[in-house]
Amino acid sequence: MSIELESHRRVACVGRLWLAALIVGGLCVFPAIARAQPSVDTSAEQGAAGRPYPNMPSIAPIGVRIEKYLDVPASAQGPAVDPAKGYRLQKLGSGLYMVTDNAYQSMFLVYDRGVVVIDAPPAYSAHIPQAISEVSDKPITHIVYSHSHIDHIAGTKALGGNPIIIAHEETLRLLKRAADPNRPLPGVTFSDKYTLHAGSQVLELSYHGNAHEPGNIFIYAPSQRVLMVVDVVFPGWMPWRRFALAQDIPGYFEQVEEIGKMDWDTFVGGHVARTGTHADVNFQAEFNRDVRQAAAAALAATKPGEGLNPLDKANPWAGFDNYIDRVAAQCVNTLTPKWSTRLAGFDVYIWDQCYSMEQSLRIE
Ligand SMILES: [Zn+2]
Repeated sequence: MSIELESHRRVACVGRLWLAALIVGGLCVFPAIARAQPSVDTSAEQGAAGRPYPNMPSIAPIGVRIEKYLDVPASAQGPAVDPAKGYRLQKLGSGLYMVTDNAYQSMFLVYDRGVVVIDAPPAYSAHIPQAISEVSDKPITHIVYSHSHIDHIAGTKALGGNPIIIAHEETLRLLKRAADPNRPLPGVTFSDKYTLHAGSQVLELSYHGNAHEPGNIFIYAPSQRVLMVVDVVFPGWMPWRRFALAQDIPGYFEQVEEIGKMDWDTFVGGHVARTGTHADVNFQAEFNRDVRQAAAAALAATKPGEGLNPLDKANPWAGFDNYIDRVAAQCVNTLTPKWSTRLAGFDVYIWDQCYSMEQSLRIE
């Protein structure tokens, strides 16, 4: 009894602390702090996992080992990679090819005097010269960086020679800061648009703002009608965790919609086993909208403090962890029936998407 009375006094005393934390968290409309629930175990071991939350999803949360992930649907699969070669070459149009190991994707464009390479993922960049040699004996004269990330461009040195490197000016800034010898600095940069004329071939590079990261560009080959935008749309698949680490989630959502409205025939996303169609982009845009709606509904329906151990009432971080976990659980439950069999990797990253979505809605 004395513990209970004490806990209620603490609830009253820390109300202002909570309020401060909520303002920091950006959530200004918030119901009253719930009273301590009588069912919590005040003798539990500190820091140890307790009983699951009510209505816990069957999809395992982050940090819990999975014995068998959901099967990858046929719609997410692509042509096989020959393991002896370690890459697959796919013609996308006149002189334009995709190279892939079915996890990463890059391109190259052959013109009358040379070859323009677009991205050099270290996962298979040592094979890019061999892939080029299947269709051309011309030298690599240019490299285009889609963005600054290691996993897409740090194989550049394996291409050899001394090609002209083209990137967005924000990519140059980030690469100067990184000072990574495996990511040579671009010698040609632009801020808005850059058209590369290579013989009779054309590549239109353009910047559409921050979404995945500053400097991530759209690369369009007009005569082949191919659009490449890396780390934004994942044909057939759930985006990589936390909306592919988008640095601006509202900007990321807008960019998916923008890609869907653009005029192209083939989409290259930089990842997964196949190229994309407008149906793939529209499908991901629909998923994004569903996650936003599910997280917004969960935020509106979830009361802070429910089930929180009264001994934790003076710990606003703990209160938020408990609250956000329950928001994410509801978000996952809402999305599972529609999406678990329609996007590959749903179970792998849906908790991540819900956590990042609720955070974006509260503070962005
Ligand atoms: Zn990236």
